[in-house]
Amino acid sequence: MTTASEERDPVTAFIGVGANLGFSRDAVLNALADLSRLPSTDFVASSSLYRSAPVDGDGPDYVNAVAEVETRMSAHELLVALQAIETRYGRVRTTRNAPRTLDLDLLLYGDGMLKTPDLVVPHPRIAERAFVLTPLIELAGPVVIPGQGRADTLVARTTDQRIERLES
Ligand code: ADP
Ligand code: MG
Repeated sequence: MTTASEERDPVTAFIGVGANLGFSRDAVLNALADLSRLPSTDFVASSSLYRSAPVDGDGPDYVNAVAEVETRMSAHELLVALQAIETRYGRVRTTRNAPRTLDLDLLLYGDGMLKTPDLVVPHPRIAERAFVLTPLIELAGPVVIPGQGRADTLVARTTDQRIERLES
């Protein structure tokens, strides 16, 4: 039987937010506000905003941030909620790494590891992306990414990726 959201102990989750089409900074700020209104979820903190070059893709620079939440939703419920927000921002799913108005990724869900056809946690490409690791470390320090290692060790391997913190 599926556990109802209210019965589950809260889990700390980290969500990656990125946009590189249109008014990217506004999209990221508005998406962070949307995350603060997720059901069964308390918003804990968000990182600074960062600007990063697209990795393995093209188009304008990205604006990125990471949010920390405490949620009673399951990882799948959270993914569905994130996808509903993406859709409201006009996200059209084309190819992987294609430019997008808004990308919301479930990065970490407690210390959970999960592999299903539509959801992999930790997010499969977390370990190689400076634009995820840098804001994650700002929020959470040198966290261990289950199955991958310490975030600060991993980020040291991404120094070829351009990323800068935006002034608030
Ligand atoms: P990326 O975020 O790696 O650039 P996309 O956003 O284009 O890739 O990929 C979206 C797909 O990734 C979704 O269909 C979703 O089912 C799948 N997916 C798998 N694991 C996750 C996760 N942890 N967070 C968000 N989407 C995920
Ligand atoms: Mg995504």
